[in-house]
Amino acid sequence: MRFSCAGNTDVGIVRSGNEDNFLVDHQRGVFIVADGMGGHAAGEIASDMAVRLISQEVGSLRGMSDKDASARIYAAIRSANQAIFERTLSEHDKRGMGTTATVMVLFSKRFLIGQVGDSRAYLLRHSELAQITKDHSYVQEQVDAGLLTPEQARTHPYSNVITRCVGANEDVVPDIYFGALEAGDVVLLASDGLTGMLEDDQLAKILTSEGGPEEWVHRMIADANRRGGLDNITAVVIRIESVDGATGEYHTSQAAAKS
Ligand code: CA
Repeated sequence: MRFSCAGNTDVGIVRSGNEDNFLVDHQRGVFIVADGMGGHAAGEIASDMAVRLISQEVGSLRGMSDKDASARIYAAIRSANQAIFERTLSEHDKRGMGTTATVMVLFSKRFLIGQVGDSRAYLLRHSELAQITKDHSYVQEQVDAGLLTPEQARTHPYSNVITRCVGANEDVVPDIYFGALEAGDVVLLASDGLTGMLEDDQLAKILTSEGGPEEWVHRMIADANRRGGLDNITAVVIRIESVDGATGEYHTSQAAAKS
């Protein structure tokens, strides 16, 4: 598999600190977005720990079966959860800290996503943008119950209340998603500072515009800031260039990253 990718984070217009963290590991095909909470310094530490620990534990999934690969991602998120949770117990000023974690790994001709919280993964295929992950949030539960429309959820005063979080409890259950990838597919991972400011059709418009991952990330962050930049904004974009590699391995190309 060959792909190009880019990621960036921005403090936004309103907040004084950035509690988001992200990883773009082109070599291993590992991508993470984490949105921390629990007050300034603590939120930053929770999302930073999640990115570092999950990246470490995921290692390489090369040649693994779906079952083994998903078990690895599951375990990586749970072990980050445990490390963060222990710190909330031992350090007084870290009490209540936690983070979202949305982790995507490319392997064989497929993607695998592990997710906790409301940072999202989207797949754009043939110009159609679809949300892959489901938010662990209060407003998503209200939408599921038919009490709110997705549009009302976006602007709801409790839109940032999440119902599952890495580090808040002794254990956490991540959701796992799989899928096959095709050449031309674009995957977006984003914190709610992006998806709260831009609607899906606005995201789709940018992801189908001229340029590639780097330009799209830049445009999405600039647009979110133009619309108010109420929260920290993080976007990671991966464009699948080709999936002609043999099953069980993936290829990365620096040249593809620049195209
Ligand atoms: Ca946020």
